[in-house]
Amino acid sequence: MSEPKDLSNDPGLRVAQDEVVTLASELIRIDTTNTGDPATVVGERVAAEWVAEQLAEVGFETTYVESGAKGRGNVVARLAGADQSRGALLVHGHLDVVPADASEWSVHPFSGAVQDGYVWGRGAVDMKDMVAMTLATARRLKRDGITPPRDLIFAFLADEEAGGTYGARWLVRNRPELFEGATEAISEVGGFSITLKDDVRAYLVETAEKGIAWLTLRVRGTAGHGSMLHRDNAVTKLAAAVSRLGQHRFPIVLTDSVREFLAGVTEITGIDFPEDDLEGAVGKLGAVSRMIGATLRDTANPTMLSAGYKANVIPTVAEATVDCRILPGRQEAFDRELAEILGPDVEREWLSLPPVETTFDGALVDAMTASITAEDPGAHVLPYMLSGGTDAKSFQELGIRCFGFAPLKLPPDLDFSGLFHGVDERVPVDALKFGTRVLDRFLRNS
Ligand SMILES: [Zn+2]
Repeated sequence: MSEPKDLSNDPGLRVAQDEVVTLASELIRIDTTNTGDPATVVGERVAAEWVAEQLAEVGFETTYVESGAKGRGNVVARLAGADQSRGALLVHGHLDVVPADASEWSVHPFSGAVQDGYVWGRGAVDMKDMVAMTLATARRLKRDGITPPRDLIFAFLADEEAGGTYGARWLVRNRPELFEGATEAISEVGGFSITLKDDVRAYLVETAEKGIAWLTLRVRGTAGHGSMLHRDNAVTKLAAAVSRLGQHRFPIVLTDSVREFLAGVTEITGIDFPEDDLEGAVGKLGAVSRMIGATLRDTANPTMLSAGYKANVIPTVAEATVDCRILPGRQEAFDRELAEILGPDVEREWLSLPPVETTFDGALVDAMTASITAEDPGAHVLPYMLSGGTDAKSFQELGIRCFGFAPLKLPPDLDFSGLFHGVDERVPVDALKFGTRVLDRFLRNS
């Protein structure tokens, strides 16, 4: 690239860095709580209309779509690129947030307070930070008449926190033309820094996500009186199966993303990850070990139990819910193990979203790395796998290569992964400005 490295005097970029803080704060003030119950959703439409206004103000044409349900607002806008023969890059973000209990917080979770160098509130890291950075950058590109190398599609979405039924998944299945030509995408839960030693940071780009599989277990027995001898009790049988599954440890399987992440950490720090104590070694990585540790193997955590209606009645049916998270490529092996653990008497019903995995290479990854190191020289950029799920699961249905890249340079002592859905969620003001500079460079060079 021929552009100068120092953009600190670019007036357009200065404006973007100033307004990203206000945009993040104003977005947080719009309560877009998503409980998972469509009847309780209030703010998504307001947020989507507000986003559309911010885009229209600088000359974008926007498309507002309610995804089959009232108030579930989504906004899509396009910025034409120089080379129309290239596939478009999709930048997507969700506008909804998980609930927050104000009594637990130091500031009101929907105050958007800017204090102590942070923007505070529900959504500050998940993911109104990235939405604000995207808006600030999109506005800057449009305002300054900058033509990106290829089409950029900006999508602001409802309902990610409940699986995207009224957001990404609905749009992908009902309005795929909005994403026409998109070949690659970036969004949340990647691009943030972890400090590996002293002043050496690695920025983690999400290249993979575990699959989500919510499993209902059902055991049928014979109903009867609780006072008598009874050999076919559904509750007893279900409890035994749940206990076996809850205590089962699935094997460690190193996928490419995890292997590359660990190799990168070894190269930077010299820390070894011996096969016979992989989890012990990963456990020493600090706050990020909670996230990385969950990507070493499949997990199956029982989360709900339900059976019976009276103390002296043995019920016919007992049910349990298990939150299963499955590594890419492991579905069949997982099913086999599960069948063995549960046995033939336990019925199984699935609600599944697939895993995601792409490779950590190519021009887009090079552009991510270059835009990070331009702002943080000496930084490393590594791939990693997210143990949770995002709207990437929906967009990969369109054949789009999905990455998590919401760049943030974070202080070494901040427990970033603990802030997701956590109390006192907040994002450093400097990190928002850093991310806006990185995103600006990235979008002008991708
Ligand atoms: Zn999110």
